[in-house]
Amino acid sequence: MKPAAFEYMVPADIEDALGMLASGGPEARLLAGGQSLVPMMNFRLARPRLLIDLNGVTGLDGITAADGHCRIGAMARQRAIENSDLVRHRAPLLHEATTHVAHLPIRSRGTIGGSLANADPAAEYPAAAIALDCTMVARSMRGERRIAAADFFLDVFSTALDADEILTEILVPDMPPASGSAFAEIARRRGDFALAGVAARITLDGASVADVRLAACGVGSAARRLAEAEAAIRGSGTGADGVEAAAAAAAGEVEPETDIHASAEYRRHLTAAMTRRALAAAIARAEAGR
Ligand code: FAD
Repeated sequence: MKPAAFEYMVPADIEDALGMLASGGPEARLLAGGQSLVPMMNFRLARPRLLIDLNGVTGLDGITAADGHCRIGAMARQRAIENSDLVRHRAPLLHEATTHVAHLPIRSRGTIGGSLANADPAAEYPAAAIALDCTMVARSMRGERRIAAADFFLDVFSTALDADEILTEILVPDMPPASGSAFAEIARRRGDFALAGVAARITLDGASVADVRLAACGVGSAARRLAEAEAAIRGSGTGADGVEAAAAAAAGEVEPETDIHASAEYRRHLTAAMTRRALAAAIARAEAGR
């Protein structure tokens, strides 16, 4: 398989890249790790006229601590996130989600920004970003804007980014004390995209729930927040009954489709199972930490 002909440009810095993207128009595409885009080009499912390679742009791959959050550059490799002590300690949900992404060679090239901008409905990072209440930082020649993760994923392979915008960094808020998180997924084989996955983050206030965020992947046209499941755990508490109520609510609110991998009904069943698993683990971790 070979891609259709394209022009290739290598910007030296972000301003260069933004200028190329603005003048390239809608047929220009950014190249990050190439782990999704290049196969799509080889199958001719994507035919960009111009490829703008972000790999030479300096300063886009940092993983740094800031006041109250971690800043993760869009070009940070998934493997670097997996190996980061900062991420492991300050954003353990992001670390756990990363361990479910593909295989080592793919994570060694693939970037967090590429995965988020690609918005595969079954990818792990979008659900983790929603559960963590991350902020996406996007730049264009017109300036910078910030987009909440919950508003970022619109549909299959579709995000709130405009055609002339580059996702530059992801801000991951620190978890308050008495918080726990977990990511649970079912895939046919280790490293495959999820049939269903759930990211959970909970903060306790004594025996009650101070805050909870749940998000699912693989069970609809985009990663989505599980608002009804969150309401169920808030209303019923963190015991087994509360977890069960949240699992049932999650299965009821997702809108999966039947495809060659699984029926819609089975995906609903898996959504309940993954909600139960992720939420129970997050609660146990929050209780252990308080
Ligand atoms: P690219 O492929 O370079 O780009 C993807 C898209 O994002 C392109 O449209 C590109 O223009 C755009 N883009 C890239 N960077 C930016 C940016 N900074 N701003 C705006 N737009 C940008 N992923 C999972 O989540 N879970 C899996 O289980 C999984 N399994 C995989 C298995 C295989 C065999 C393969 C080949 C891939 C798999 N992936 C999986 C996808 C992998 O994680 C990719 O790395 C990721 O989806 C895309 O990241 P990338 O850096 O390679 O982006």
